[in-house]
Amino acid sequence: MRILIAEDDSSARRILAAILKSWGYDPVVTTDGAAAWAALQRPDAPRLVLLDWNMPRLDGLEVCRLLREQPTSDPPYVILLTGRGAKDDIVKGLEAGANDYLAKPYDSEELQARIKVGRRMVELQAGLMKARDALAYQAMHDSLTEVFSRRAILDRLAGELARAKRDNGSLSVGMCDIDHFKEINDRYGHQTGDEVLVAFTRRVQAGLREYDCLGRYGGEEFLIVAAGVKETNGEENLYERLRAAVAGSAIRAKAAELSLTVSIGVVLGAERGTVDETLAAADAALYRAKAEGRNRVCYVKSGQ
Ligand SMILES: [Mg+2]
Repeated sequence: MRILIAEDDSSARRILAAILKSWGYDPVVTTDGAAAWAALQRPDAPRLVLLDWNMPRLDGLEVCRLLREQPTSDPPYVILLTGRGAKDDIVKGLEAGANDYLAKPYDSEELQARIKVGRRMVELQAGLMKARDALAYQAMHDSLTEVFSRRAILDRLAGELARAKRDNGSLSVGMCDIDHFKEINDRYGHQTGDEVLVAFTRRVQAGLREYDCLGRYGGEEFLIVAAGVKETNGEENLYERLRAAVAGSAIRAKAAELSLTVSIGVVLGAERGTVDETLAAADAALYRAKAEGRNRVCYVKSGQ
């Protein structure tokens, strides 16, 4: 584990670095507060910090304050080292944001024990961050297909609508429904149905542009949010390309090779409407695509 040392006294610095190494840590050495502060700004900054109080440029207390002013959910663990031992100073140090405090000359066993506490805190925090990130990912993504979840794609839709309105941009929204999907489930089982859903999303995603979003709206219904799509232009059109990509070749599941088609209802000029209006219009266009024989794209302009 890397530990940042900020100490202006060269012999104290050398001793500290040597002792940390002997305990199996990897010291990152800085010689004043400003250098320590700069090192702590780096994305790969050490998570544990031994900070001398009295240093030129920025003192340890100021570095603590700067650190605590930063909006972060993953702050480093700071142990303040100082010759000051008065109660007022200890309070001042902790109030500035130090996690712990050790008066010089420090006892090396005590330092080691306090570093161990810091290390435990840092590791605990890293574990919590990881769990939090995993939960956030799970909430945002469909567990089967890993495209955006319903909640996430609706959030995207709301965000992109607001942005298109503000920037005078254009936005289209496509509601996709795999044709006769229930028959696949009934005939081959849900395992195959799941394989088809995954293969379908991969195929659609491959046809999307980097800034288009795909989310699972429900069972076999998917929503596409595409900025900058203004009007239909035949074979060049995004949605027509996606429809053709799905119908173009069979999907190979373990149980069978399956020909798949998709019906898509597209709202053009979605930026003129609300989320609810857009979804209702896309639904209506999808319904029309189904009624007209499936495996097709039907368009509707928002507000019409
Ligand atoms: Mg000093």
